[in-house]
Amino acid sequence: MLSEFAWIDRNGAIRVFKKLCIDGHANECIIRIVTHIHSDHTLHLDKSIAYCKHIVGTPITLDILEALGYGVPKNKKRTLEYGKVTTLEEYEVRLEYADHIPGTAQVVVDREGLVIAYTSDFKNPGTKTKIIEQPHVLIIDATYGNPKHVREAEDVVWSKFVELLRKLMMQGSVALYAYYGKAQDVMIKLREWGIDAPFLLTASQWRVYKIIERYGYRIEDVFLLGSREAEEVKKSGWYLEIRHTSGISLRNSDANSHIILTGRLLKSIVKVDSGNVWIVGISGHADFNDLVYYVDFSRPDLLVVDGYRSEHAQAFASYIKEHLGIQSVVLPVDITT
Ligand SMILES: [Zn+2]
Repeated sequence: MLSEFAWIDRNGAIRVFKKLCIDGHANECIIRIVTHIHSDHTLHLDKSIAYCKHIVGTPITLDILEALGYGVPKNKKRTLEYGKVTTLEEYEVRLEYADHIPGTAQVVVDREGLVIAYTSDFKNPGTKTKIIEQPHVLIIDATYGNPKHVREAEDVVWSKFVELLRKLMMQGSVALYAYYGKAQDVMIKLREWGIDAPFLLTASQWRVYKIIERYGYRIEDVFLLGSREAEEVKKSGWYLEIRHTSGISLRNSDANSHIILTGRLLKSIVKVDSGNVWIVGISGHADFNDLVYYVDFSRPDLLVVDGYRSEHAQAFASYIKEHLGIQSVVLPVDITT
């Protein structure tokens, strides 16, 4: 039974061959892999840091974790570049690029020819995200696992977002709220779309930016909120603040308008109330069609759909079984299709 080699615990840990934990923790695990820095993928990381022998991630991910306050001891840190194979205990481990936020990786584990792969969060399969072909087990994120979850093309969403932003900026400054990684991604893209207003970052967003900058993601006119330069910029009233999503409830920004960026909204733009708060869906996740494309191309013997991180895992597993004829299960709550 292939499902003996890969499963998902109730606490969200993705388990491969018992001793290897991805994006969550279990006491049996000797190896912990972190696919990226989003909080649903750094579950119980403190425990893993204390108990595991190896903490694995891409250079960017491990550096950002450090900046966010996770102290991984040097002798446990296993920095792994995309595409490189390393042997840890009895496993051969490889990380592959996933188009999501800087540093995100898919995981491929090979033990004596038995191959288990985990996609982590991704979008653009086959173009930017490499498709892992024919693993024995493929564990997939199915955030948009419902067949109704078909999104507008990324460029269409972006042109609407940029249009809204330009309109709001004519009235004054705008605060953007996003998770770490996504915020930096959005800043890069806004420059590509011709938005050249200075970015003023909160201290934590600044720390994450300084790390990705070291890896070649350089952005012009980025300042730390509270610094002398930022205070100068503020006087002009023409700037964009970059804050963490949790900051929206604090309302400690004096910006004229507020835009919350989320990867979990199907509609592109929603106005929250009569005030000046907007939600924009800049997704970091594959939509339904992209998910089906990945699985169809990958053709695993068994598909495990992550039901811990998606409410639509069951719909996706059923669809794959019916339309592609691939054996599919949802875990941790296994309602076999
Ligand atoms: Zn994520």
